[in-house]
Amino acid sequence: MTDCIFCKIASHDIDAHTVYEDEKTIAFLDANPVSKGHMLVISKEHEKEITSLGDEATAALFSTVRKMAEGIQSELDPDGINILQNNGEEAGQEVGHVHVHVIPRYDDDGLDIEFDGDELDEDEAYQLVNMFG
Ligand code: AMP
Repeated sequence: MTDCIFCKIASHDIDAHTVYEDEKTIAFLDANPVSKGHMLVISKEHEKEITSLGDEATAALFSTVRKMAEGIQSELDPDGINILQNNGEEAGQEVGHVHVHVIPRYDDDGLDIEFDGDELDEDEAYQLVNMFG
């Protein structure tokens, strides 16, 4: 897509701090890192959300995500790694091209990516399991 900034990175029409590239994916440093080593992995295929991406492109995307996490672990030795993927503006998606955040975590990084949910309702759980099962 011509006006997509991540497509332009994938086609090398604009620069990025690329750390890895293969036929289907590219990984580069986030321009506004929330921690040292925060990177993005994208599929070279343009889709806005993960639900539109095919199985093959999704497999390639997450294979690269795993490789980047492994590289981060061995090179930066963080205390943990968050892997985040936002779909839709409500979910915090700002760039409309499927991307996965790989975020090294350090004891003192001050980031707050915690889930504080309520206990699962049994009736709702039953309905949901039947919906997907
Ligand atoms: P999201 O909120 O999940 O859509 O995240 C979009 C991310 O893309 C943000 O963390 C931005 O800092 C990052 N970003 C936007 N443009 C660029 C760019 N040209 N190069 C690297 N990272 C970018």
